[in-house]
Amino acid sequence: MPSLFATGHEFTTVFGRNLLAEIPHFAHRPILVVTMPDLWTKFAAHFRGEVTPYLVHTIDGDELSRELATIPPSGSVVGLGGGQALDVAKFVAWSRRVPLFQIPTAMTVDAPFGHRAGLRYGGLVRYVGWAVPEAVYVDFDVIQSAPPALNRSGICEVFCFHTAHADWRLARDRGRTEPKWPYDERLVAGARAVLDGLWPHLDDIHAVNETGIRALMTAMRWAGASFHNAGWNPRHIEGVDHFVFYALEYFTGKKFIHGQPVCLGIVVGSLLHRDRAEEMLSAIHRVGVDIRPEAMGLTWAQVEHALVNLRRFVQDAGLWYGIAHEAEITPAFVADLRERITALYGPWPG
Ligand SMILES: [Zn+2]
Repeated sequence: MPSLFATGHEFTTVFGRNLLAEIPHFAHRPILVVTMPDLWTKFAAHFRGEVTPYLVHTIDGDELSRELATIPPSGSVVGLGGGQALDVAKFVAWSRRVPLFQIPTAMTVDAPFGHRAGLRYGGLVRYVGWAVPEAVYVDFDVIQSAPPALNRSGICEVFCFHTAHADWRLARDRGRTEPKWPYDERLVAGARAVLDGLWPHLDDIHAVNETGIRALMTAMRWAGASFHNAGWNPRHIEGVDHFVFYALEYFTGKKFIHGQPVCLGIVVGSLLHRDRAEEMLSAIHRVGVDIRPEAMGLTWAQVEHALVNLRRFVQDAGLWYGIAHEAEITPAFVADLRERITALYGPWPG
């Protein structure tokens, strides 16, 4: 859609079928496929032995730097995976200055559409490198062969615009925006249009049909490009939604399917902002993302601990100003949250 704000270049994205088998016909040889062990088992046959795999076993940046010399030489890199493999593929392609082709195997995160690799340094996320893929290949059969819950969970990467905007407006009203990121209505309006454009397709995304795949992937593509085009400014696409996820990760040490804790964070943030919380909760439920703590291997007590300590966490972590910095989250708030979620999803069985 036309906008006063030039969002600039988005990664070339191709939707189709049988796309893996085409890779050996055009990628620069020798071809290195960066993927996860289980995905290699699943997809190796498509490449007919014409590529060399590198199976990801770490996303630690220092470890990867040391390992680079041992990874077979290649004229191009193909990333094949949900998130981590695509990030490692970016890192290898960037380090070697060779062309990159990305093949997402599920719609879990917007990693295929971002320039930088989210690696860990000393256990903390840092986004490093620069990799613009020649193309992102979205193969309908590949995506549809992933667990539906994984594909649906990617909705978090767009629904989070809602809480991001509420946070940015709050920061503006409080005079607490960062000097480098003054409130920009054009960015907010652009993101809002993308979010609104997804609304008619919630059932398609739930069904993981072609329309749903196109809609969600195209929205994620916008997010990846706009982060860069806005000068690496995340204000219009991310806020308390992701902070809740970071806090849960920090306090529990658990690994998550990204979309579950982020969608929980969207509900928490909407409630704190008193901004369309019921609507967001019901949309998340309709797409089919289970945000009950038990569905992510957590207890309500763990969620309560993370939320009650959210303010201290975001302050210590130096995250950008929003509702998490000022809201006093009480056990009563968490009890209300639990009641709302249980009313919609039902109690956790067993
Ligand atoms: Zn995210």
